[in-house]
Amino acid sequence: MPRIRVLGSDVVNQIAAGEVIERPASVVKELVENALDAGATQVRVDIEEGGRKLVRVSDDGCGIEPEDLPLAFAPHATSKLGSAEDLFRVASFGFRGEALASIGAVSRTRILSRLRGAVEGAEIVLENGQLGETRPSASPEGTSVEVRNLFQNVPVRRKFLRSVEVEFDHIFEMVQRFAIGHPEVRFDLLHDGEQRLALPPSDVRDRIRKFFGDDLGAALLEVRAEAEPFSFQAYLAPPSFARTSIRSQFVFLNGRFIRDRVLSHAIQEAYRETVPHGRYAVIFLFLEVPPGEVDVNVHPTKLEVRFRQVWKVHDLLAAHVRRRLLEGDLAPSVRVERYAERAAESSPVHEIVEFFSGPAPVETATAPALLTTGRRYFQVHDRYIVEEAEDGIRLIDQHALHERYLLDRYRREYDSADVARQRLLLPASVEVSETDRALLEDHRSVLESLGIEFDDFGPRTVAVRAVPAIVGDEDPAELLRDVIERLREHGESERREGRPIPLLDEALEFLACRAAVKFGRRLSLEEVERLLSDAAGLDYSATCAHGRPTAVMLTLEDLERLFRRKG
Ligand code: ADP
Ligand code: MG
Repeated sequence: MPRIRVLGSDVVNQIAAGEVIERPASVVKELVENALDAGATQVRVDIEEGGRKLVRVSDDGCGIEPEDLPLAFAPHATSKLGSAEDLFRVASFGFRGEALASIGAVSRTRILSRLRGAVEGAEIVLENGQLGETRPSASPEGTSVEVRNLFQNVPVRRKFLRSVEVEFDHIFEMVQRFAIGHPEVRFDLLHDGEQRLALPPSDVRDRIRKFFGDDLGAALLEVRAEAEPFSFQAYLAPPSFARTSIRSQFVFLNGRFIRDRVLSHAIQEAYRETVPHGRYAVIFLFLEVPPGEVDVNVHPTKLEVRFRQVWKVHDLLAAHVRRRLLEGDLAPSVRVERYAERAAESSPVHEIVEFFSGPAPVETATAPALLTTGRRYFQVHDRYIVEEAEDGIRLIDQHALHERYLLDRYRREYDSADVARQRLLLPASVEVSETDRALLEDHRSVLESLGIEFDDFGPRTVAVRAVPAIVGDEDPAELLRDVIERLREHGESERREGRPIPLLDEALEFLACRAAVKFGRRLSLEEVERLLSDAAGLDYSATCAHGRPTAVMLTLEDLERLFRRKG
């Protein structure tokens, strides 16, 4: 019979590392949080090889006492918390006190620090959990934490890291969140010596504009509201800017980026009539909540939090965001309606007016090309395809058409229990909570019949082994996370509204929508041609899965009437 043993602290820290540190971007997250907690006004992030080789975060914060350096690495050591009651009072980023210990358990980590105003700094190294000596060092004021060869002693986890670009994308996204949440702080991000972000101190709008473009920045609507003890400020992009991923929704709680499905629900509800199913409004939400109202330590990476009165926040948000949208100065769409009313009531005209008075073109359209059928076509505004038809022109919504084609194909494959799937050479590991894991387990057979296969991998990790072929080269981990999100929302809507959505239909639609070419993506001529010939068998007059038309036909007769050549 095996004897019961207490695990050594190196093992414990490695296990903790598995929960907190999933990939280089998680290291960036922990280190930048610490820098901000230390009162930094400048944060510089240096990355080498997507973070596998090096993640270094340097700040000009308060610094660490040389004698405290070994403590910074000790598990459950934190300067941010003294007693259990403090747990509910702390307003800083985090105080689980395990980040540095966890990181140092699976890499070579060096901290250099000098207190503000001190003559000399000090440094210390933690490698694979082994603590070195504290030494004097010529550190500038502030702190620099250097993490080399992440997962060097955990080959399984190292194997699961993705390409340099994918890992760097995650890091970029992470820094983006901090930069939007903390516009007053200067951020620099460098990858292999190349400057990727240089953001001088500024304000939220300016940061949003830097990341999302001037059009969106200029169109943002601002709203503030409060209901004791909560208050929020939000920047809302008009519905026409909606995207296909929920990642365009930024929710900050007391300056910290979080994901919360109840708050996401509030946002969806506020935009419900204006943003079609399967799309997500772009919104930047800054919530202020007194520390006693929320527990931020329920999740290892502190991404999810627990509110005491979440529905109160939900209703406050939903009501005010919605009201602001209604009274909103949504100039472009209002103008469209007015023109449309004057022009005619028939829908093709409405559509074409909307098409031409949409956001100004940034780039010129691709040159017209000849379809094998001899008809001409070209893409405009990276969103629509204009096709010469036998007796007029057809305006096609590229996303809607592709989605309809995929849905058709997918549904047929599903009905014949033969969904084409793509097996992953390297399974993609996804960190999940226990509830999410149970949720996945409950729906395993449906998901498998849809082409999504996964295995259990560690206590809080699942490994995606196959995805439906139609989703192409989407990030499988991302896909699974979104599927989890949908399953949760599904449960939520069932509980809230007592009317379950047929899960299968929803899943098919969702995956087809995810896989379809994005509205706003520049297509090569070959891609347009492939889309048009793939969809050749479809009935264009039919609508896409969300009930929007896929194409609008303008006959020569319509055109003649429009140009008043005919009465
Ligand atoms: P936590 O942030 O939860 O307290 P960490 O393991 O991330 O735990 O950090 C441990 C301690 O090390 C912090 O509480 C803080 O005192 C110190 N520390 C870490 N990074 C910095 C930094 N950049 N500047 C100043 N102090 C730091
Ligand atoms: Mg920390």
